[in-house]
Order: sequence, then C-alpha cells, then structure tokens
Amino acid sequence: MASQMSSYKAMSLRSFSSFRKAPSTEIFNSRRSSSANLLAFLNMTYCSTTSSNDLYPSSKRRSRGPVMAAKKASKGEKQEDGKYKHTVDLPKTKFGMRANSTTREPEIQKLWEENQVFKRLSDRNNGGSFVLHDGPPYANGDLHMGHALNKILKDMINRYKSLDQESRKTLTPLKLRAKAAKFAKATVKAQMASFKRYGVWADWDHPYLTLDPEYEAAQIEVFGEMVFQGYIFRGRKPVHWSPSSRTALAEAELEYPEGHVSKSMYANFKVCSAPNKGGLLELFPNLFLAIWTTTPWTIPANAAVAVNAKLKYAVVEMRRPLEDIPTSSADGKKMVGNFLKEQENSFLIVAEDLVSTLEAKWGVELVVKKLLLGSDLENCRYNHPIENRECPVVIGGDYITTESGTGLVHTAPGHGQEDYVTGLKYGLPIFSPVDDDGIFTEEAGKFSGLDVLGEGNAAVIEYLDKQSSIIMVEPYKHKYPYDWRTKKPTIFRATEQWFASVEGFRKAVMDAISQVKWTPSQAENRISAMASGRSDWCISRQRTWGVPIPVFYHVETKEPLMNAETISHIKSIISQKGSDAWWYMSVEELLPDKYRGNATEYEKGTDTMDVWFDSGSSWAAVLDKREGLSYPADLYLEGTDQHRGWFQSSLLTSVATKGKAPYTGVITHGFVLDERGLKMSKSLGNVVDPITVIEGGKNQGEAPSYGADVLRLWVSSVDYTGDVLIGPQVLRQMSDIYRKLRGTLRFLLANLHDWETEYAIPYSDLPVIDQHALFQLESIVKNIKDSYENYQFFKIFQTIQRFVIVDLSNFYFDVAKDRLYVGGTASFTRRSCQTVLAEHLLSIARVIAPILPHLAEDVWQHLPFQHATEDGDIAKFVFESRWPELNDKWLAFPVKEVEFWGKILELRTEVNRTLEAARTGKLIGSSLEAKVYLHAFDESLAVRLNEMCETKNDADTLHRIFITSQVEILSFLSDTRIENIPYTGEYLMEGEKKIWIGVSRAEGLKCERCWNFSHQVGSFVEHPTLCSRCFSAVDGQPMPALAAAV
Ligand SMILES: [Zn+2]
Repeated sequence: MASQMSSYKAMSLRSFSSFRKAPSTEIFNSRRSSSANLLAFLNMTYCSTTSSNDLYPSSKRRSRGPVMAAKKASKGEKQEDGKYKHTVDLPKTKFGMRANSTTREPEIQKLWEENQVFKRLSDRNNGGSFVLHDGPPYANGDLHMGHALNKILKDMINRYKSLDQESRKTLTPLKLRAKAAKFAKATVKAQMASFKRYGVWADWDHPYLTLDPEYEAAQIEVFGEMVFQGYIFRGRKPVHWSPSSRTALAEAELEYPEGHVSKSMYANFKVCSAPNKGGLLELFPNLFLAIWTTTPWTIPANAAVAVNAKLKYAVVEMRRPLEDIPTSSADGKKMVGNFLKEQENSFLIVAEDLVSTLEAKWGVELVVKKLLLGSDLENCRYNHPIENRECPVVIGGDYITTESGTGLVHTAPGHGQEDYVTGLKYGLPIFSPVDDDGIFTEEAGKFSGLDVLGEGNAAVIEYLDKQSSIIMVEPYKHKYPYDWRTKKPTIFRATEQWFASVEGFRKAVMDAISQVKWTPSQAENRISAMASGRSDWCISRQRTWGVPIPVFYHVETKEPLMNAETISHIKSIISQKGSDAWWYMSVEELLPDKYRGNATEYEKGTDTMDVWFDSGSSWAAVLDKREGLSYPADLYLEGTDQHRGWFQSSLLTSVATKGKAPYTGVITHGFVLDERGLKMSKSLGNVVDPITVIEGGKNQGEAPSYGADVLRLWVSSVDYTGDVLIGPQVLRQMSDIYRKLRGTLRFLLANLHDWETEYAIPYSDLPVIDQHALFQLESIVKNIKDSYENYQFFKIFQTIQRFVIVDLSNFYFDVAKDRLYVGGTASFTRRSCQTVLAEHLLSIARVIAPILPHLAEDVWQHLPFQHATEDGDIAKFVFESRWPELNDKWLAFPVKEVEFWGKILELRTEVNRTLEAARTGKLIGSSLEAKVYLHAFDESLAVRLNEMCETKNDADTLHRIFITSQVEILSFLSDTRIENIPYTGEYLMEGEKKIWIGVSRAEGLKCERCWNFSHQVGSFVEHPTLCSRCFSAVDGQPMPALAAAV
C-alpha cells in the first residue's frame, strides 16, 4: 500500500516535469485498478506529446497580447493599444467558466422534464429498439457508490443509443427494478430521487415491481411452464438452512464473513469387520478409522466413512511420546481427547501423506505398519460412535483430498451435498434429526432439544470423549456460510423441498451461455463453471411473503396436486388480486371447478418461491409483456456478484421454458473501493457517498460539491470490468479534467459569438492546418463511437482528454487565437478557423453528451447559432440532435500529411524550448518578439519548410504556427549570421535527419494592434503603428489570402 500511495503523489499533475514519450503500451496493458490507470494516463498525456514547459505558462504568455491589450483598454486603463481595441474580436459568451452545478444541473434536469425530452425521444420510435433490462435491487435502501456506478453506466449506454440513430432508431426506457417487500414503494421513491439527481434518464413513471400482480402472474406462468417440462420436483435433500430465519436459502442468499471459527474434531471410529485381505484383521480389535469434521453435531447423523479409492492410506501404530501430551483448557485452544491419553498400542487408519502432519498436531509418534489403497478399505465396517449400529466404509469422490483432515471423511447424507451424492450411490439413509429452529429432534436421542450450533455441538463432543472416541478438538478458522439477512450461521439440513432440476436442461444452459456476448470475456468462463457445477436449484422457501408455490397437498396422503388446470386457475386469480390471495382465499376458491367438490381433501402448500426465482422471471414479466420492449434483452448490466444471482437465475428460468438466454449481451462491473484499494466501511471512514460528491458535504472545504457530471466523468474513467477506486484525490483530478473540458467548450462558444452557418468556408478552400484539425476531430469521433459500441468508456475518457489538452489547448487553439482576435472579423482566415471551431463544438457536445449530459446540454443551450438535424428540424436540445455523421472527406486527409504535421508539432515543441531559453535569458518577453531560424539537413524537408514560410494561406505559415513574428529557413549552417543568433537548439528527426533551431529578436517594429513585429509597421500613413495585415483589417480591405483562395 505504501508504495502505491507514493506513486499517487508522484503522479500529481503539476509536480511532474521530466520525461517525454512515456511508452503508452505500458499504461494501457494493465486492466485492473482503473483509477491508477487514469492517473498514469494523465502523465502520458503530459509527457508524450508535449514537454512540460509547453503546457500552460508559455502559451498564455505568447498569445494573449492583443486580447490583454484590448481588455486593459476596455477597463479604462491607460494604454496606447486602446486605439484599435474596437477592431479586436474578443471572445464573448454567457456560458459560465464554472459549472455552478448545484443550481445549474437541477435547472437542466427541469428543462428536460418540462420539455419532456426523454419522453419524446422514447416516442420517436420508428425502428429497432435497444433493450437494457435493469436488474434486481440491492438488499437495502441506502444508495452507495456501487449503485451510482451501475446506474450511471446504464444511463451512458442508454443516452448513447438515443443519440446514435444509425445502429438504433430510438431509446428504450430503462426500467427501474424494485424490491418486492413491504417498504418497496417508499424505497423505490427515495432511490428514484437520487438516480434522477445523478442525471439518469428512465421511465420513472412506470417502474416494474415484483409485487405487481401482473408480475407475480407471469412468474407463476414461468413456474408452470417448468412444471410441464418436467423440471420441477419435490425431494428430500440437504439444503442451506437458516435456523435464525427458519427457511431454506439459496447460494445467493449466503455470505461468508471473515473470522468464523468452528470447533474441529479428530475422532476415531472402531473398525468391527474387514474383508479378509490386506492383513487388517491381524490388528483387531484395536483398529480405528480416524476422521475429522468441523461440525461435530452431525455425528449422530453419520451413515458412513468415505475414502478416495486412489489415495494411499497407512495403518499406523500410535505410540505415546516420552513427554506428556500438552493438555489445555476445554474452552480454549486445543483439547486433547481421552483417546490420546488412555489408548496405547492402538492402530489408526489415516492418509499416508498426512502421517507426519498428524504426528506433529497430535504430539504422538505414528509408526506406519501397513500401506494400502483407498479401494482396499471399501466394505470395512465400523461401529457408529453413538448409535448401536454398524456403518460401512464407502468410496467417495475426488472431494476427498489430503489438504486437511485425515483423508477419511465422516459422511452424513442429510447434512452435506457431497455426502448426499455419495449416499445416493450406496443407498445410505438420509438422516437429519434437526428441526426448523436448528434443534435436535427426538430422533437424535440423548441430544434431543439441544441447539446444534450451541450446546448440542458441545454435548456431542463431550459424549464422544467419554467414549474415548475423540483424539483432539481444536478451533478452526474457515469460510462458513451465514444468512445474509440475519447475519447468523446456517446449517446443512435435509428437508422436503421443491427443486428445479438443473441436470434436466444443463446442456441447453451451456449452449445458451455460448451464444451470449460476455463483457469482460472471462465472465463466460465464470458463469460456465457455475452452471456446469451447480446442483439442482432448491426453489422453495418457508416464508409467508413472496409468491407462493401453487401446490395443494392431499390431507392424508400428502400427495401434491399440481397440474396445468390448477396452475392456470391460480395464475388468473393472482393476476387480478395479487399473491396475497393465496393466503386469504380458501382452498375451495383456489381450486379450479374440477376439484372444487373435493376441496376438503386438500390443503394449501405454505412454501413460497426463492426470491431469485422472482427476479429471475423478470424477462417474462417485463420484457415479454410490456409494449416497446422485446425478449431477449440486448443487455443485462450488473455487478460481478450477479453471476451466481440474477444472471444465472434469469438464464435458468429462460432456458428451461424458452430454450434460450434472456439476454444477448451481459456486462459485469466490479466493486467500488477507496483510493488505496480498500473496501469502504464506516469504521475506516473511507466511504464516498454519491450524493455528497454531487451536492457537497457539511464542510465544503473537505467535501466540495462536484456535481453529477464529475461523478459521471469518474464512472467513464474507470475500467469497470475490475474493481474501481474512488476518493478525494481521484475526485479532485476528475474535477480538474472536467474544468479543462468545460474551458475548451467555453472557448469554442465564445469565439463563435458572431457565427452564422452560411459563413462556413468549403472544405477544399480551408488552410491545411484547418483540414488537419478536422481530420483529427473526425478521427476521435470515429474512435469514440467504436468505444461506445464496445462499452469501453474509459477509452472515450482518455481520447477526449488527450484531444482537448494536447490537440486543442496546446496547439490548435493556441495558434488560432491570433487570427480569431486580430485576423479581422469577416476575414477568410478568421472564418476558416470558425468553420473548424463550429464543427468541433457540435461534435464534442454530442460525443460527450452520454457521459456528461448536463455539460453538453448547458453548451447546447448557449449555442450562438441554430443547429438543424438532417430532417431540417432545429435541435433545441442536445439529445434531439443525432450522433455526428462521419465525414469521409475529412478522414481522407492524406496519411503522408498526417505524418508531416506530426513532425511539425514535434518541431514546434523544440522551438518552444529554445524560445523558453531566450525568455529566461531576457532576450524576449512574448514569443512574438522572436524570430526563429531553421536549418534542415534533409533537402526535401528544407524545401517543404520554405514553402510553409511563403504559403499564401496566412494560417499555414510557420511563424503563425510557432506564434513568432518571423521564421527564416537558412540554406547553410556556415552562414556568418549564425554567430549573431544567441539561442540555439535542435530537433532530432528519425535519428538521422536533424533540424537546427535558432532564436533571435524579431526584426522590424511591433504592430500596435497584433503585437507582431514587422518591417511594414510605419509604412501606412493613416495607420503608422500597424502591420499590413492589421492595416487591411482596420481599413476594411479584403485579406490577400481570401482573394487567393476564392
Ligand atoms: Zn498587426
């Protein structure tokens, strides 16, 4: 942990300065711990493409000249430059620099609601729909970061689908799934309010509730269908049983808390007969089987001892050590049994591999007398240690290992799954002398009335020890199943239950799994392993709430009555009156006509269905029944814990009745941990509450209000397929990135304040720098679309962030300011730049909208011009616009040119380095006071650079790109002028080809309006302080470049 902490510190943005070109592969390879990835990515952004001194300060110093002058002048400060301030095009917008999210986000949400944007989008259904089926609720009503992660991921997908018309015609509402309990409705209401505040769009007016009669009826239908298919049966099988809530439990209702300690017991069972081989008979009568168990209370139900046929077993003679065996208190650590204290010259059978382990544990010498295979032990018999009966040694399965215990397994088929299976093989009795409360029944004889998890367990140990059957008892820490509701331990207990025979349709389940697209792909292995290994599904519960198992029993024979007629009749009653009817209506009313006359012979079953059967039927109750939805769903998206929960229960019910999975895609996400990777808990004080993140805490200094969009930005930034990290530091980083993005959008809005769509310059006329910018824009839009399609939001986050910082802020905007502010309001150079900016604004707002809907809408509401969709309607809201259509012409920017511009940008970084040195040496202040000299050792490059100096498109000239007043390409380095160039540097290109860089002061005089230096300043009589460009702009003359381009 410590090293991780320090690496976070090293990654903080501003403290980072040294290396360039961090290898990007390293950063993207590690898939887990996404927040760390994010931070690493920040470094890459700052290191790989730009040197640190190119980040903030220099660009500000370089290009603010004309703007600062105008601003100072407008504030009435005495400033010579004020004379031309009215000719400078200052950025202008009401779009705030700060998000002001606590008021602005709710305003935007209200705007959507009042204009029914979501509803209209849903109604605009004119084609295929995308169904994201929302899953089962969490166990409690308090929303935490896991909910936020889950719901925001879903919302991002829904909003993307609503924008992208190519793949989907419309958005299908996200259905809120609620908990079917008596507080469900209140809980749902409270949860909805929070989800809405996260900016989650859903069909809030029509949530589905499992307690709706129509839902319950659909569930009965699924159950009935499974009955008709022959998959439902009643049987006596050991199940997880919770004495504290007096019901059977499914795997998904169990939890395994840390620190459970059981009393584990080594006991011996005396062998009473053996096959006449292997020489076992010679060792009678003092021959014992050594067994080990962590549940001594199951010994009364012992029916056999199981061995692994393939394992080697040893018959050992037990010799007491010279020293006394360490004894200890009965309640404390180890308790040495009477057997160890009293018995001498006894023979024990144990697994050969465990002999030395057991010697050490028991503190005795074990001398190996014989070796034999497990299969040789079959058909030995032993005396039950409590009851007066003989039991067999049987062959168990591969579950018998030498990892712990003795290699011989005490087998009680009524109290364990593997024991049950082995018991079936040998026809062993399924004995389970324990009642619903976990109390020994009369069948348990002398232990009757004792609690198996308490005094009953102790009484069994005490009794066995009196019989000298105990070798040793010691505490044993292990995973033990607890009831997730009561947080109390459970037991394994055989009872009469209803089961769904998974064996009956397992192959179909495996086939269905392979048809689904699982994200991440490992999820397929996980669910396959679970489905292939799972036993029959115990679907009955002994509870008075929930959906009843619609069965009647004959009063005398106890024979169940359940068929198509009874189920269909009950289903129709429940669809009208709800499942409560099962309890308040009489048997006579609940039975169909045919059986009504015999109503007195029947009684109602009292079992209800497993809640996982409830939620596992949602595909039938919602997807299949509601208009506008379809079965199977396109996507289920929940936490990884749902592999054994909802994903699986839905899969089983769907495959059993329809033969296919209820979904075509499944995405799982990990858990939310704190910044150090620790689980969040109140005691650690590391809980991050989503509403506090959005609205701020009591102490705004410690917990500022970041707004829903910052929270959503975080969700987009993490690789949710693993566990994800969040904490104050991560949130601050997110907030910084959000602000940069907002600043970018503000720059775009502000410089388009006078824009009209008809001003747009045709693509073919645009300067190359502008064509290049459109190529970059379109490339990221294309990438982002791919990432949305693959639900890889963290890639979108990285792409956007890199684009905004590296491509826009550090380069295109930096260079653009000059022509935007002083190029002349209606000049070609300014209009071509605005053409590019308008495209950026519209595209960025739309591609970020699914992730940052409030920011995108805020931008849209501040658009200084109107945007029409393809069908000619004005898009009043960002979500009424469509996903930007890819512009193939922009993408066709030649590859060679892309490479060349990449080099120009690298060269620019090196030029900036040299300029910075000149600035430090006080040769220049602003970069406009400098002239740059270049010498290219490669001839063709020299030609190209010369062309760039002389190009007719002012925007493409090198000195504009470098934001200096002049650039000159030197033909020879031996030029004597070099001696007078005070600052030099070089750019190593592709190893061999070098470009030499020199910086001196600019020539000529400073133009009052644009601060560029030029020999022409002073040559215009009316405007003696202006350069020729500014003279044209001020004099209202068309720019030479425009004349050339048209
Ligand atoms: Zn000028």
